[in-house]
Amino acid sequence: GATIGILGGGQLGRMMALAARQMGYKIAVLEKEKNSPCGQIADYEVIGDYQDLEKAEELARISDVVTYEFENISLETAKVIERIGKLPQGSQLLGISQHRGREKRAIESLAIKVAPYHLINDLQDLQRAVSKLGLPAILKTCRGGYDGKGQWVLKGQGDFLKVVEELDFNQQYILEKMIPFTKELSIIVNRNSKGHVTSFPISENIHLNGILHITIAPARIDKVIEEQVKAIGITLARGLNLVGTLAVEMFLTEEGEIFVNELAPRPHNSGHYTIEGCEISQFAQHIRATTNLPLGSTKLLKPSVMINILGEDLENVLSSIAKLADAHLHLYGKEESKKGRKMGHITFLGDTVEEALTKAKGSGFIKAEV
Ligand code: ATP
Ligand code: MG
Ligand code: MG
Repeated sequence: GATIGILGGGQLGRMMALAARQMGYKIAVLEKEKNSPCGQIADYEVIGDYQDLEKAEELARISDVVTYEFENISLETAKVIERIGKLPQGSQLLGISQHRGREKRAIESLAIKVAPYHLINDLQDLQRAVSKLGLPAILKTCRGGYDGKGQWVLKGQGDFLKVVEELDFNQQYILEKMIPFTKELSIIVNRNSKGHVTSFPISENIHLNGILHITIAPARIDKVIEEQVKAIGITLARGLNLVGTLAVEMFLTEEGEIFVNELAPRPHNSGHYTIEGCEISQFAQHIRATTNLPLGSTKLLKPSVMINILGEDLENVLSSIAKLADAHLHLYGKEESKKGRKMGHITFLGDTVEEALTKAKGSGFIKAEV
């Protein structure tokens, strides 16, 4: 059978691999560490850094199609595989989503709003940007951040002085106005090379310490907002020539304004609920989109609440699994459990969002107001 090659061996790669395997594909993975979440279930493990061109070429040789589970793989690697003709997703969208400045310009060019921002190259830029945008604001590295890493919230002059100490102007930063959102939303869209586009039900996301804590789907928003969010997702999919999966994170304000926060050109943590909640999962849809199969129905089967399991909660979760008959448990097989590290997730289903939420709250693992 055909082999799908995955750059990156984390949980997203693992869940892609599980979906692809069910569809009859073999799996090859390129990852630094042996026995990674994806490596454990792959047919072929290529051990090496995904910045290593030779290793990437080796992965491409044994694969019919290559995809990535992580947007911070090197662009050069992606381009090499694209040139061989084995990266149907291409490298353009990847390049855009690797730099917050480029990403924001691409979004704005499609007449979609983002938080007011300034690119920062030095201390003077930062001072000017702070006086233009005002505080509170949030400073982010342009490249490489995830799970809130490489970000500083600036509330007052004191934060400003503290942050300045930590900055390294060999890299670029971006300062964004803090958006006083009432909800964070996301939508996952897929497109295959024939141009067929689908979108999953919109989800509502609650973060703690910069890390996704829970996702509620469908989002509790009115029809008008729902249509606007869907239009944003589809406009981005078409406008950015998506092939594969695009996750769009957004802020919704009291006034009903929608700002796009960031893009991820891959399956997304806020779409894990689709495994049980929808007719097709985001992972199976990703495989269909990258192998140019017709896309499946994204219809919601049941309202869902997904809770991330971080390292600090793993033992607690494991010791109470027996009590969680209703919980759909996914553990990623990570060997080392660390604070803030995503070790797995649980999804609860209900006939209504309220019912799914009641079950999720009953688990004792929800740490936020919902
Ligand atoms: P991810 O793990 O989603 O890739 P990330 O590290 O790339 O996260 P962002 O999504 O940019 O980080 O920010 C993390 C969280 O911080 C957001 O989900 C949101 O809660 C908050 N945040 C980021 N930017 C802003 C903003 N401009 N206004 C208000 N809140 C923000
Ligand atoms: Mg991000
Ligand atoms: Mg984010």
